[in-house]
Amino acid sequence: MNKDDYDIILCGAGPANISLLPDLIQKEDIHRCLILEKSNTLGSGAIGQYRITANSLGGVFLEKFQNKDDELSRYMRTTAEWAYFSERRDEAVELRYVGRFLEHIGAFVQQHKTLYKRFEISTLSTVEEIQLSDDGRYAVRYTVDGQTREARCRKVMVNLGGQVNNVALPHLNAINSDAMLKGEYDEQIKAGHYQNIAILGSSHSAVSCLIRLIEQLDVKNPIQLLVKRDFKLFFDSPQAALTQGYPFVDADVCQASQRVNRYSGLRYDSFTFARKIQRGEIPNLTVVNIAADDPETLRKRLDSVDLTIKCTGFSATPVRVLDIDGSPITLRQDAHGLIVDHRLNPSTVSNRTLENFHAFGLGAGIKTGGDSGGEESFSGRIDGVWIYQHVVPRLTCH
Ligand SMILES: Cc1cc2nc3c(=O)[nH]c(=O)nc-3n(C[C@H](O)[C@H](O)[C@H](O)COP(=O)(O)OP(=O)(O)OC[C@H]3O[C@@H](n4cnc5c(N)ncnc54)[C@H](O)[C@@H]3O)c2cc1C
Repeated sequence: MNKDDYDIILCGAGPANISLLPDLIQKEDIHRCLILEKSNTLGSGAIGQYRITANSLGGVFLEKFQNKDDELSRYMRTTAEWAYFSERRDEAVELRYVGRFLEHIGAFVQQHKTLYKRFEISTLSTVEEIQLSDDGRYAVRYTVDGQTREARCRKVMVNLGGQVNNVALPHLNAINSDAMLKGEYDEQIKAGHYQNIAILGSSHSAVSCLIRLIEQLDVKNPIQLLVKRDFKLFFDSPQAALTQGYPFVDADVCQASQRVNRYSGLRYDSFTFARKIQRGEIPNLTVVNIAADDPETLRKRLDSVDLTIKCTGFSATPVRVLDIDGSPITLRQDAHGLIVDHRLNPSTVSNRTLENFHAFGLGAGIKTGGDSGGEESFSGRIDGVWIYQHVVPRLTCH
């Protein structure tokens, strides 16, 4: 094998790609794997900075490494986060601890070069473009230390994270949800710079932003929640939803698990908070239905607001993909991100599937159906650490 030839290249080392590493390590037929990460940190990606709780219970993050005897699993069980999750198996845990837990995977592999010599990690390395070759392999070009390098591989995993869908708003002072979730506006908010705040959207991020504003930052000024639909809530069974008087239809029930709103529903802390909103228990919060608003009406509403927080979903961070002849390839997307098939392969706008090219992280992800189950009424993407660690390996590692 040429020195720049790999079996597999992971582009980006956030939660999506790093979660795959424990499975790749077990695969003897992977002789060389290259991991390219633009930052200095492996594993946590965006979630390491979010100041909210996870929509998963602590026990979920233990599953991958319990009852296993390999070096990585044994090490993961010695970490402080393992103890933290073990004590909170049935509680929603802080997302930044999930980030730190994932960081240990990359750090352990990076530090134990002899053990993991098949795995090369290159940080401060930015993937610039990926080109198809006539032998079916991919050429990945990346910059490191101001120099462009090229590595080739049979299989490429492209998970560079997501960017907030940029809804054009007739309002200058609009920020994205992730800035709010990372605490970038905490000082201004605590200093009382904003008398009126609006949140746009009824997604997980919208509820997380509200929890931050009301419970963590103790905002007492008026907040408007501008929504086009009510929150979707998660229930273990149709019976549980009925008992709590939650309206749902058959298409909201996952046929594989019988859970209601299995992937789209708010869980744990977000569920509790959404219930408080629905019961009108947050005195400074007004929920406004904007489904029928035209742009002018929305503009008038936002005139009275001095900060708008956009919670309008994510799309995959794009990377330049080139065809064999060097012409750019446009990948198919919809309002929820990149469209991938049952093997998590994207396709071109002319419907050509990119074999051995996989995308499944934020802004890409899997749709409901097939082995992953899920409710028919959900048109978004399924992402999250459990999916990356349990579903993705069997769809991509072949
Ligand atoms: C608000 C919110 C809450 C969430 N809560 C949960 C939860 O509770 N539980 C859960 O399991 N999941 C949760 N998720 C979903 C999921 O786990 C995260 O979205 C996760 O961050 C996605 O991982 P990723 O690797 O796709 O992207 P990112 O976390 O964005 O990581 C991408 C990585 O790629 C690197 N990168 C970017 N561009 C380049 C480039 N050109 N070259 C090289 N490297 C590059 C970045 O530096 C980064 O390290 C949540 C998501 C959001 C948005």
